Amino acid sequence: MGKTVAMDNMNHSDPSCELCEAARVTEWFYEDDMCWVAECEACFVPMVVWKRHDPNPPEEVRVVLIAHLSRIVETHFEYEFWVDQVLRTIPTHWHAHARPKGGFSGYGLRRRKP
Ligand SMILES: [Zn+2]
Ligand SMILES: [Zn+2]
Repeated sequence: MGKTVAMDNMNHSDPSCELCEAARVTEWFYEDDMCWVAECEACFVPMVVWKRHDPNPPEEVRVVLIAHLSRIVETHFEYEFWVDQVLRTIPTHWHAHARPKGGFSGYGLRRRKP
């Protein structure tokens, strides 16, 4: 975590990249060796972030990451979503947002009751 990435060069991380830094500023729903899923601090929707500083995951990786995102949304929320893979703020590091159908930002999304 943080800015120390000396040990991390094999992971292709970039010390100046916010997604590589992976600061836990919002709620994290899931993490594994490949990715993490957290609420986007700008859009208030869940997003999946690949743990590699690269804008183009291979198709087989992309499918797995999007499946994690979809599962998280279905587990924790009650809204219909579309997967937005456009890299807007951070074009060098792949991530995808689960945006509400017909919308963009997810402020006040309905959560499932535990
Ligand atoms: Zn966002
Ligand atoms: Zn990065």
